[in-house]
Amino acid sequence: MKMKREEQQTLSEEIKENSGINFNACLHCQSCANGCPFLEGMDFPPNAVFRLIQLGMDEEALNCSTIWICVGCNTCSSACPMAIDIPSVMDGLRQKALKTGIKIPEPDILSFHEEVLNTVKKYGRTHKLEIMMRYKLRRMDLLSDMGMGLKMLKKRKLDLMPSKIQDIKAIDKIFKDK
Ligand code: SF4
Ligand code: SF4
Repeated sequence: MKMKREEQQTLSEEIKENSGINFNACLHCQSCANGCPFLEGMDFPPNAVFRLIQLGMDEEALNCSTIWICVGCNTCSSACPMAIDIPSVMDGLRQKALKTGIKIPEPDILSFHEEVLNTVKKYGRTHKLEIMMRYKLRRMDLLSDMGMGLKMLKKRKLDLMPSKIQDIKAIDKIFKDK
């Protein structure tokens, strides 16, 4: 099944327009892949995802685990001789994958992202305990990290209660403008 293009715009053009990043400048030197701490969990190195898009293999690019495994640490971008903001491209691809409605290959990562955003929406900042509780509830796996959670609580690394920023309306506006 061929993916429907939006007004004849290619995926390459769309991601370039949305992210403002010209990943076609990639030299495929692999410096990004060599430094990526999460490469082993990816099905394609970051530059290979760019290549898929350049070759018009949109479904493969949007279905790959790489775009979800990327944590946006920027290790790759700081090593890139073309200064390509790789995490922004990955972010654009994740957004596009969600819009397209395809089956996300890493549903747990998507759930985690959603729970992080839920607390930002509610409080204007993250609340780690709530994120973890809600995420684990979704997975029906409340007990597996209990020991770690208790240790973190004991060391005061987790706040029991969330705190809200004063100007929560500004956050509402950001989410509404999305
Ligand atoms: S480091 Fe930059 S130029 Fe080299 S392969 Fe990665 S994205 Fe392309
Ligand atoms: S930003 Fe993503 S692709 Fe780049 S090094 Fe970090 S995890 Fe790897």
